[in-house]
Amino acid sequence: MEEKTSGIVLGGTNYGENDKILSIFTLEQGVVSAKIKGVKKAGAKLKFASEPFCFAEYVFASKGGMRTVTGASLIDSFYTVREDIRRFFAAGAMLEFVRKFVKEGIISSEMFVLLLNSLKSISYGKLDPGGILACFLLSALKLSGYGLGFGDCAECGSRFINRVFFDYARGTFICEKCFNGEGREINLSTFLYLKKADGGEPPDGENALKPLKLLDFYISVKAEENIKSLKELIKIWE
Ligand SMILES: [Zn+2]
Repeated sequence: MEEKTSGIVLGGTNYGENDKILSIFTLEQGVVSAKIKGVKKAGAKLKFASEPFCFAEYVFASKGGMRTVTGASLIDSFYTVREDIRRFFAAGAMLEFVRKFVKEGIISSEMFVLLLNSLKSISYGKLDPGGILACFLLSALKLSGYGLGFGDCAECGSRFINRVFFDYARGTFICEKCFNGEGREINLSTFLYLKKADGGEPPDGENALKPLKLLDFYISVKAEENIKSLKELIKIWE
């Protein structure tokens, strides 16, 4: 059986001497695994289609439940993310997030559109890659059931004036008066940055380091996942 579907390569593992098993995020079928043959040989015709970030229309042949890539026509390679180390790790963190949070075979068209648009703006836009990643992570966390609430104090409803405490168990923020030792204090500027990013607008010209560190911390304690590329990005940023 042959099938055609557009997808973005999230990553792959080596298989045998020259083959790879790819993890491809598709709009119609969610994340799928597919074998691609001979791509480690020099001059392999489908090598491009096995690279992370590659967005292509794939042709799969299915046999015994296993897909094999038999053809691909490139839509976008997002090649420019490789030309800048921050863009590279920020975009890599997006792929990794999807790999860890979207289970194989679960269709998530919202996540697909979010990933595609975020890769486009990180490749072709002028905005800070850290801000684009912060926006992506906040939306992606929401889609995965780990959304954060950026309203006023989650306990008493008062506006934050200078001190903000992050209740990471609940994904909310509380004021100094309501803080009872559960959670940790964060900078007001970090809160305001994330609130802006949560509105879908990547803050530009502001340092994304602390907001990204908070998201990294939240993902590891709340969702118990580690996004390695996010940790790498934080390391090179510091
Ligand atoms: Zn309060």
